[in-house]
Amino acid sequence: MPVQPDHAILPAADVLLERTVTLADEAATAAFGERFARALEAERDEPRKGKQAFKGLQVHLIGDLGAGKTTLVRATLRALGHAGRVRSPTYTLVEPYTVQRPDGELALYHFDLYRFNDPDEWADAGFREYFDSGAICLIEWPQRAGPLLGVPDLVFSLEVDGEGRRLTARAYSESGKACLERC
Ligand code: ADP
Ligand code: MG
Repeated sequence: MPVQPDHAILPAADVLLERTVTLADEAATAAFGERFARALEAERDEPRKGKQAFKGLQVHLIGDLGAGKTTLVRATLRALGHAGRVRSPTYTLVEPYTVQRPDGELALYHFDLYRFNDPDEWADAGFREYFDSGAICLIEWPQRAGPLLGVPDLVFSLEVDGEGRRLTARAYSESGKACLERC
């Protein structure tokens, strides 16, 4: 079955790069998380000609319950050096992480907006600030926030594919594209 459109608000024409990856088992998801982590580090740490300082990255994770969104976030955090637990933020809506990198700290926020239903809560909780802080924001169920989130840098769509998963990754910004090219 073809992947459904991620968001009604994201026109297909705005996709700068699309890649599909078969994740046959959890080890394959872990390996993709590792490549993604290295890509995030490279995008943050390697200044490129004519490129502004890293402004953070907004990544949307789309897929049914059990599609493997949290598994991919967990793999990414582990590969970035986070040794502690990675809880699914279903009730807290967001879990913050700080990983130590050779050239300083990297902030990452893991959102799960499955239970999000009140746009006022968005403002009250100060979520907006997370997106302007230069952090990496990985967001499960971004659809629940409607237009509050704006256009992401990357969208990862996960689908069950036999015993494994199929990941369709789409980039909507130059930063997102640079990351995806490295995955
Ligand atoms: P979601 O966050 O999308 O609801 P989870 O990551 O919490 O999903 O759970 C996904 C389930 O699928 C877990 O039981 C996990 O072990 C399994 N899983 C994750 N990735 C794969 C994969 N590539 N192949 C097979 N099973 C996977
Ligand atoms: Mg989840």
